[in-house]
Formats: sequence, structure tokens, C-alpha cells
Amino acid sequence: MAQKKGILIAIDGPAGVGKSTIGKAIARELGYSFINTGEMYRALAWKLLAADINPEDEAAVSGLARSLKWSFEKGRGAGLRTLVDGGYPGVALRSEAVSKTSSAIAKNAAVRELMKEMQRKLGEDGGIVMEGRDIGTVVFPDAELKIYLDANPEVRARRRAAQLEREGYPADYAAILRGIISRDKNDAGRRHAPLKKAPDSVVIDTSGIGITEVLRRVIELVRKRCPPI
Ligand code: C5P
Repeated sequence: MAQKKGILIAIDGPAGVGKSTIGKAIARELGYSFINTGEMYRALAWKLLAADINPEDEAAVSGLARSLKWSFEKGRGAGLRTLVDGGYPGVALRSEAVSKTSSAIAKNAAVRELMKEMQRKLGEDGGIVMEGRDIGTVVFPDAELKIYLDANPEVRARRRAAQLEREGYPADYAAILRGIISRDKNDAGRRHAPLKKAPDSVVIDTSGIGITEVLRRVIELVRKRCPPI
């Protein structure tokens, strides 16, 4: 059997809680690759919008998902980017329309099955930090370390608005908060792979602490739980 490159660290939690920021920082610190699985759902949503397919048409959505050519390449830093039909949609993935549509199609069981297959393949050699909603519960139930990040919706919306402003985009706090609450409801309420805490996950509430402190706690957990590689 091939030597594993390291452990699999699963990070789950609701929208806008900082999973990517934390995940990337951990991957950098450990020399791991980072995979944001939300990007896969967003890339499919982006293609769906371009093809003018109704997100509620489950057969058409899963048909499109299967017809696309999915590939992954190293982006800037530790992150792997999701390419569809050879292209990276880039900043288009962050639009409000894509956010809403990705949340709507995430309840599609056939889509989730396809995503899970790709995610398992990407993570099988270890040395990966993977973030999403169902990584520790469904995709890698045996992950060596599972972190569940949480924060109240208002804090998440404030952080998201500040991030957009820093990046030079207009930010409407009330609309962002509404979007976060609605996506939380979809993610936690769906039948297939709903967002929930894995019983063996370590829960970190980031409402009152900054990224440096979250990172410090996670690195401590990694060092404690996982043998050096
Ligand atoms: O993480 P992000 O907000 O970019 O994800 C976009 C959408 O994709 C989420 O609202 C969620 O519904 C869905 N998603 C999911 N399972 C994952 C990752 C994302 O259902 N593992």
C-alpha cells in the first residue's frame, strides 16, 4: 500500500463561519493540501445558471453534473481549485445567485453521491484539509480529526460584510444575514447528508474569538491527536 501523505482533517460548519480561512491556514501550517468542497457545489450551480436549468428539476441537475468534466488543480497557496470543463469560474462562484442555487441543489441525492465520490478520491492519500457540511459525517466518517466550527448568524454576516468591503465589493448586511439564515435552514433541514455535528467532532465556537486563536487551538489538536509524519 502506498505511504499516506498525512492525515485527513475534516472541517464542517454553517455558511460563513470561516472554514476556508481556517482550513487554508491549517493546510499551510502542516504542508497539506486544502479542498473547499463548497466550490464543487458552486461550480455546478454556476453551470446550471448558464444552462438555465431549474434547480428543482432533480433529473436535469444530476444529468448536468454527470455530463461535466470535473478536474482539480493547485491554485494559489495550499488550495485545490475545482475546474469544470477545463475552466475555473473564479470570482463568479461567489455571486449571491450562485450561493442561493448551490444551496438549492445540495439536497439532490444523486449530485451528493457524485460529489462524495470525487471528494473521497481527492482525500484518499491523506495530507488533506477538507471543508464542507458533511465531510466528517458522510464523506470521511473515519477522518482522523474532525472539527466543527460554529458562530451565531449575526457574527457570520458581519464578518462576511467586512470581507466583501475589504475586497472592494458592496456589502448589504441585512441581505447577507437573510442569505446565511436561509442557507443554514436548507443545509440543516435536508434529507440527504444534512449539516450536523459528527459525535466525535471537536466543536469550536468562533463567535467570540479571532482567527489566530481558532488556528492555535486547531494546531494544538492536530499535534496532540496525530502522530508526527
Ligand atoms: O461552503 P459554501 O457556502 O461555499 O457552499 C455552498 C453550498 O454548497 C452550501 O450552501 C451548501 O448547501 C453546499 N455544500 C454542501 N456540502 C458540502 C459543501 C457545500 O451541501 N460539503
